[in-house]
This record gives sequence, structure tokens and C-alpha cells, in this order.
Amino acid sequence: MINDSLAQISIYDEHLASRQKWHSLWITNLIPFFGFIVGIVLIFYWGIGWLEISMLASMYFITVIGLEVGFHRFFAHKSFETSNALMILLAISGSMCAQGPIVYWVANHRRHHKHSDQMGDPHSPYIDRDGAGFKTKLLGLWHAHIGWQVRHNSPSTSHFTKDLLKNKIIFRMNQLYFVWLTLGIVLPAIVGGLLLLNLKGVVIGLIWGGLARIFILNNFTFSINSICHMFGRRPFDTKENSRNNIWLALPSFGQSWHNNHHAFPYSAVLNFQWWQVDLAGNFILFLKRIGLATNVKKPNTDQIRLKKMAI
Ligand SMILES: [Zn+2]
Ligand SMILES: [Zn+2]
Repeated sequence: MINDSLAQISIYDEHLASRQKWHSLWITNLIPFFGFIVGIVLIFYWGIGWLEISMLASMYFITVIGLEVGFHRFFAHKSFETSNALMILLAISGSMCAQGPIVYWVANHRRHHKHSDQMGDPHSPYIDRDGAGFKTKLLGLWHAHIGWQVRHNSPSTSHFTKDLLKNKIIFRMNQLYFVWLTLGIVLPAIVGGLLLLNLKGVVIGLIWGGLARIFILNNFTFSINSICHMFGRRPFDTKENSRNNIWLALPSFGQSWHNNHHAFPYSAVLNFQWWQVDLAGNFILFLKRIGLATNVKKPNTDQIRLKKMAI
């Protein structure tokens, strides 16, 4: 409920807050950013070839599936059901995005849905910003994109994620977060080394499959919090300011149909028009076809039509 007090939905703990800030600043943002810069510099020496591109593309695909299909549509919204084995794989690949462990991520995301663009939303571009000028908008975008990560109180996991905490497998995956995160950087480094049989292969794998990939992927997904609550179309009259943004559809694997998502958060697919590309939704339908996803939820055409704004 919107009336939930901030004390109920967040945890005020200095130690936890400082650890979370450290993680957000260094692990989620700065180290991947430095890795990306190193990658750009190395292009001037080594050029850019099949290994750089294939490392980036394959690790991007694996981890964006973990984040969007796993953390978001499966763990946060329960939009389909799957086996424990696939759940574990989704938990591991999602953790490789360096956006925090599953329980923390889901608690923050459910908090966003419950309090979208109102007090209590951890990353709204509108809260606490008076005025409508360019500078206000820019500060709002910065807060929603990155600023909130080092400024918010931790979400109360006992309030938002009781279901996940009760599941022993998910709890264990959550505890092993730093192992999966490290694996997401070490694994491409090993593969790169094995492919070129030299140190250059290790460095290319570590940078393009690991750090630069985290930087690029995270900034596309952070754009959902910032750009997709400010720029784009609103076919559904939802209570917040979510928007559909076509330009981010491909790299976000469909999450940029964000107004569609806020209108039907439980839906496993977000492309309600034939031209809306939703790769994560397609992936879930593929899982369903091969028998790995069941109870795949989506609204029917009548439910979509009724919710549409009269334009
Ligand atoms: Zn949103
Ligand atoms: Zn969501």
C-alpha cells in the first residue's frame, strides 16, 4: 500500500548502508567503468576483432537473460514457473550483472512497483525535485540512473521478499552472490585465454566478457529507471509515469516497453504490438515450447484493450 511508512519498507542500519554504498559505487559502477575505459584504450593497440565482439555478445546475452528473464520476470514478478535447475542457472547468470544479490534486487524492485514515482520509490526521477526546468529534469535522471544507488536505504527484505527468503535454494544462491559475480569475470577470461592460448586472450575475455560488459549492460538497464520514466509513449493510463521507449527495446531485451510492464507487471511477455521487440519474452516462450517454462502468464487481448487509454 502507498501508505506504508518508510520505516516499514526500509532498513536503517549504518553498517548495511555503508556496505551497500561501497558495493554500488565500486562493484556496480566504478570498476566496470574503468574496465570499459581500459577496453577502449586497448582498441588503439590491438584493434577490435572477433574475440572482443563474441566475448561481449555471448556474456551480454547470458547475463541479460539472467537479469531480465530471471531476476525480473521470474524472481520478482513470478510471471512463469520453471525447474529448480533452470532457476539456479537464472540466479547465477543474473548475479553476474553486479547489481546486487537476488533478494536485495527483488526487494528494491518490488518496492519500486509498490511506490512508483511516489514517496518510497527508491529510484524515481521525480521525488524530491521541485520545479520542471531542464536542470531539475537532469538531476532527476541522474538520481534515477545512478545517484539513488548510493543514497537509498536498503529495502526491508522481510517486508518485500518473504517468499524468496523461505526458499532454501534461492537463499543459498543469494549467499553465494560474490562467487557468481567473480565467475562472470573469471569465466570469460579463462575462455579467452584458451581460445588464443596467450595472455592477450585472458585480458580480452576479462575486459569485454567481464568488466566492460557489466558497464554496458548496467547502463542500458539503469536507463529503464531513468529514461523509461521520463521519455516515451504511455498507451496505458498507469498510476506512475512509466513509458514505452522503442530505442532501448533491443539492448534491454524488452524491458523498455516499461509502460506495458507497469500496466501488467505479472506478464511474461511485454510486446503487445507485433512491432514491439521483446527478446526476453521470446526467450520465455521458447522455454515454454521446449517444456522448461510452465504457467506462463500474460493478459488476453480484452484485458489489454480495457486498460488502454482512450486516445
Ligand atoms: Zn518502473
Ligand atoms: Zn518489474
